[in-house]
Amino acid sequence: MNEKVSRLINEQINKEFYSAYLYLDFANYYDAVGLDGFANWYKIQAQEERDHAMLFYTYLQNNGQSVTLEAIGRPEWDKGDNMTPLKRALEHEQYVTASINNIYAAAYEVHDFRTMQVLDWFVKEQGEEEKNASDMITKMELFGGDSKGLYMLNSELKGRVYSAPSLVL
Ligand code: MG
Repeated sequence: MNEKVSRLINEQINKEFYSAYLYLDFANYYDAVGLDGFANWYKIQAQEERDHAMLFYTYLQNNGQSVTLEAIGRPEWDKGDNMTPLKRALEHEQYVTASINNIYAAAYEVHDFRTMQVLDWFVKEQGEEEKNASDMITKMELFGGDSKGLYMLNSELKGRVYSAPSLVL
């Protein structure tokens, strides 16, 4: 595997674990204010991010590349109101999309079609992640303004269940 492609995937492992850590901190915030449905949503989101990290880890291992696990940074976000994590999540997913695209560009440059095929799943996944993050903001704007609406929205988010990623390596 091309050295740059391998290094970027290695860095992506860390970014996915950081995403899990950031979302767990959002869950932490929502649990503390009593919004257990929002907390549930972000705990499941954190699980998905760990799955993403493990997919990249497995992909490098399967291709004889050494994996280097770096320190995971402290979750960086300024606490505000109940909308703040939702907006921060969308920004973060846009950042991750750019990061995935950057790996794709590096793989494309060296004709690493195998990596591009794996990344195709992540490109599609990022489309879904951004849509989910954006939908959360819209719902909060629409229904989160009064306590009844917030209660209903929290109840809806409580129903989210974890499902394993569809990509198998
Ligand atoms: Mg991810």
